[in-house]
Amino acid sequence: MLSSFDKLRMSGEQPRHTQQTKLSGVRVLVVEDEQKVANALREGLDSEGCTVVVENTGEGAFYRGSTESFDVILLDLGLPGRDGVQILRTLRARDVRTPVLILTARDTSDDRVVGFDSGADDYLVKPFAFAELLARIRALLRRGRAPQPLRLKVDDLDVDLVTRRVSRGGQSIELTAREFQLLHCLMSRDGELVSRDTLASEVWKETARSSTLNNVIDVHIARLRRKIDLDRPTRLIHTIRGVGFMLGEGEP
Ligand code: CA
Repeated sequence: MLSSFDKLRMSGEQPRHTQQTKLSGVRVLVVEDEQKVANALREGLDSEGCTVVVENTGEGAFYRGSTESFDVILLDLGLPGRDGVQILRTLRARDVRTPVLILTARDTSDDRVVGFDSGADDYLVKPFAFAELLARIRALLRRGRAPQPLRLKVDDLDVDLVTRRVSRGGQSIELTAREFQLLHCLMSRDGELVSRDTLASEVWKETARSSTLNNVIDVHIARLRRKIDLDRPTRLIHTIRGVGFMLGEGEP
């Protein structure tokens, strides 16, 4: 017997269940009023390891999308009540930056333009091949959720990520490339504990941490701390003994 998902598919491709296509743990909000399509999407995405939440109305979609966190939203346009485009505009106006992929039968160029202008990240016309939907979801996830900020600021410490200039209280600070990466890693998690494991993989690109690398990390932290914190009224770089480091205004 054909599953509703098979009926939905346009091409003869089989859904692939290889390691590569798995989207384990990815939270997807499916906004779709047509029950068959919604079920097919739920079934297909479930089997890829996604956590799927389905909303059938515009109001429901808006409520979910603005109160819960998702990795991607699949949005139908023709919905009872508020239409998909309206929902998308309102979500974007409220600064919800979750990637949105419009899934619709509306296939004119004008429809696509309206969709993208309303804040969609991608647009796929029904009927579609499920494999293509998965590929597009993967591409959206790779692109990341939010645009990277251009500068970071904590207390009077300023980092310009474009020019890579660093200053504290308006005084310029010279950092090596490695120190800059280290500072960037700590600052982008301002106020959070950053473990040595995280630093090892993000700054040194090492997955296996060794005691040698631990020493290297400590040496770099010490140098960075001298440049950032020495003779300043507020210390920003804190050591959490045995665990890692934290950058922030307050003592951890
Ligand atoms: Ca619809």
